[in-house]
Amino acid sequence: MRIAILSDIHSNLEALNIALKDIEAKKPDVVVCLGDIIGYGANPNECIDLVRAHCDIVLLGNHDAALFDPSLVVFFNPLARTALQWTLRTLTPENVAFLRSLRLTTELHNILFVHASPTRPAAWEYIVDQTDAQRHFPSFHQQLCFVGHSHIPGIYSVEGKEAMLLQGKRYIINVGSIGQPRDRDPRLSYGLFDVEEWNYGLVRLEYSVSTAAQKILDAGLPSALAYRLFEGR
Ligand code: ZN
Repeated sequence: MRIAILSDIHSNLEALNIALKDIEAKKPDVVVCLGDIIGYGANPNECIDLVRAHCDIVLLGNHDAALFDPSLVVFFNPLARTALQWTLRTLTPENVAFLRSLRLTTELHNILFVHASPTRPAAWEYIVDQTDAQRHFPSFHQQLCFVGHSHIPGIYSVEGKEAMLLQGKRYIINVGSIGQPRDRDPRLSYGLFDVEEWNYGLVRLEYSVSTAAQKILDAGLPSALAYRLFEGR
C-alpha cells in the first residue's frame, strides 16, 4: 500500500495541479491531505474542488478552521488575516460547509495523520526541528505520525533528525507544503510512503511560481504573499 501525503496547499492552484499530475502518474493507493487548503493564495475554490476530487482523506488545518472560529484569527499575522478575510468573501457556501465538516486526525495502518501536532491537534503547535518533534513522541501510540503546518519538511525520530526510515523505529514526518514552502526551496513538496516496503520519500517539484504570484497581486492580496513564493520562505 502506497500513500501520498500532501499539506498546506494554501489556495495555490498552480502548485496543486503539478502535484496532482505527479500523484496521478505514481498511482498511490491512498491520497491524504493534511489540511490548510486555503489562505494566502488566489484560488481557494478551485483548490477545494480538486482536493475533494482527488484526496481520499482530508483533515482540518488552522487556516481552514479560522474561517469559522474567529478566536483563532488573533494568532494570525496581519498578512494571513487579510488573506483569510479575502478568502471568506471568495469561497462558495458549499466549500465553507465542506471545510467545516473536516476532522482533526485520522489513523490508517498504524499511522497517525494530523495537520499540526499529535499532542493537542487543535492547539496548532509547530514542529520545525528536533526539539519540537521530541516532546510529541509520548503522545501518540502509532509507529508513524505525518504532519504539515510548519511548511518545513523533515523526518524525526526520538534521537534526532533522520535522512531515511529504519524498520521498527518510530518517526514524526513533516511533508512540507504544496503551496507555500518555507525551507528556502521554492519547489512544492509532498510525501510518498510505502507501508510494506517501509520506505518514505519527499517529492520536490517545480511549478509556475510567477503565475501563482501574479494571481495573488491581481486579486489585491498583500504583495508580500506573492514575493515570498519565489524565495520559498
Ligand atoms: Zn499552513
